[in-house]
Amino acid sequence: MSFKLTILGCGSSAGTPVVGCSCKTCLSINPKNKRTRCSSLITLDNGKNILIDTSPDLRQQSLRESIRSIDAVLFTHIHADHCHGIDDLRAFCQINKKQIPIYGNEEVIEQLNLKFNYAMAEPNGFWEKPVLRAHIIDSLIEIFNTEITPVPVFHGRSLINGYRIGTLAYITDVSEIPNKSLELLCGLDVLLLDCLKHEPHYTHFGFDQSLEMAKKINAKETYLIHMTHSFEYEELKNKLPKSVYAGYDGLKLTVD
Ligand SMILES: [Zn+2]
Ligand SMILES: [Zn+2]
Ligand SMILES: [Zn+2]
Repeated sequence: MSFKLTILGCGSSAGTPVVGCSCKTCLSINPKNKRTRCSSLITLDNGKNILIDTSPDLRQQSLRESIRSIDAVLFTHIHADHCHGIDDLRAFCQINKKQIPIYGNEEVIEQLNLKFNYAMAEPNGFWEKPVLRAHIIDSLIEIFNTEITPVPVFHGRSLINGYRIGTLAYITDVSEIPNKSLELLCGLDVLLLDCLKHEPHYTHFGFDQSLEMAKKINAKETYLIHMTHSFEYEELKNKLPKSVYAGYDGLKLTVD
């Protein structure tokens, strides 16, 4: 099985540039310092697109990457920077005249059903709203002939889902990885990992924790995501050890 991953956004909840900020990262003209809200796209060999989270920048990300279909969505957790672009799924329902299955842990599905109830609907021939069907994922599932394993991690006090797909894992918004979940992260080729800012944060890995965890998990390649404007891309790049890379919007990886 081989597939492609595209980083749609590697920014934190505020995105970079931050509204109203004039720090050097926010004023930088380097496109790698423009970070939309955190989300990635998996494109399988059979052409199916699996989206991880619906960031508030989903529309822009879809235009930038010329995405024409979304076949499933994996939600990590319920925070606004990961969910509030859900309405933009409507475009794909309209193009393909199809309901989109969405997956998340029990709490996420309950909250999505509450907050976005209007979008949880069976197809009725009209596509003026997103038409979604929610499924709880609490153990390995197979979609489009691909195994997806949820990897529970702590985001502050909440337990949220990371995901493992083949030899790739996507772990955003994490402050602690339980041992049982670490076992699910053995033998990775590619790891995408939360790295909020230089200092530690009570719901996220900071720079030191992120590098420490990258070393522990020991994937062949680790890409840092969910970064604030405190990281200027070129500066960050020069501080990283071998096999750890700064993510950027539009980065594409092939995973075998
Ligand atoms: Zn977040
Ligand atoms: Zn700034
Ligand atoms: Zn969060």
